[in-house]
Amino acid sequence: MKKIRIKAYAKINLAIDVLGKRKDGYHDVRMIMQEIDLYDEVVIQETLDSNIKIHTNLEYLPENRENLAYKAAEIFMQAFGIKKGVEIDIQKNIPVSAGLAGGSTDAAAVLKGLNLLWKTKAENQLMALGKKIGADVPFCINGGCALAEGIGDQLKPVTGLDCFILLCKPNIRVSTAEVYQKLQLSDIINRPNIDEMVEHLNQKASIEEIRENMVNVLETVTMKEYPILYNIKKKLLECRGEASLMSGSGPTVFGVFKDYDRGKSAYVNLKKTYNETYLVKTNPKNGF
Ligand code: ATP
Repeated sequence: MKKIRIKAYAKINLAIDVLGKRKDGYHDVRMIMQEIDLYDEVVIQETLDSNIKIHTNLEYLPENRENLAYKAAEIFMQAFGIKKGVEIDIQKNIPVSAGLAGGSTDAAAVLKGLNLLWKTKAENQLMALGKKIGADVPFCINGGCALAEGIGDQLKPVTGLDCFILLCKPNIRVSTAEVYQKLQLSDIINRPNIDEMVEHLNQKASIEEIRENMVNVLETVTMKEYPILYNIKKKLLECRGEASLMSGSGPTVFGVFKDYDRGKSAYVNLKKTYNETYLVKTNPKNGF
């Protein structure tokens, strides 16, 4: 039986601006997404029946239709009239409900994996299928670094950052939907200049220039609710990180390090308190 193994990479946000609420309840955003070298391992195997079976190493994750990987397989098979079955085994390494697009990237990996497994030649249709699953899925299909607009699904390639990222996730779970619900646009004082940031990234400007626009307006909600996130940010900067920001709706906070040794010593320091601490690299290539 055919089998394929795919790495599903996480993302961080180098900046997030929220422009306003749309009639359909979603928000219009402008954000910079950056793929990082932290990944789930997704193994997809064809089966003789016509079922979709999901297995993960985390017992609290859904293994039914609520798992975004299940949804991806279902949408793919419906779109191309495929009557076969699949078993999908996901080794989760990306923290869950962390602001790192863990579920979205598994869904993206399933779309790409099934396209390869069954030689469907549907590369051009994967983005549209991904959008039906979630706003972050199209980015996860391409990876690299991108400006994401609309609800986050309209992508333009940007030159990625090439540096080390120290991720630190305290033992808190955040719901993205709730954070957006609580967001008061009138409370936001500090906004990133996204156009300037895109320009800086494309010009490979120094991190000192880039960090001026490393602002995530969702911090106004999540950090207010969980002040511990301020402490993590402070600590990352005290540990000589060049910049620090919350990713997505949180609670993961990351530090940017040009230098591996500095990143490593900050890692050792934070890991003592926060079990879910990871030192990774950005994946600066872009897949467009
Ligand atoms: P985002 O940054 O896109 O908001 P996140 O990193 O904050 O995502 P996820 O890790 O994707 O959040 O998990 C959010 C919810 O999705 C959880 O409640 C989880 O149960 C559900 N979920 C469904 N499928 C998956 C999956 N394959 N991996 C992780 N979570 C999943």
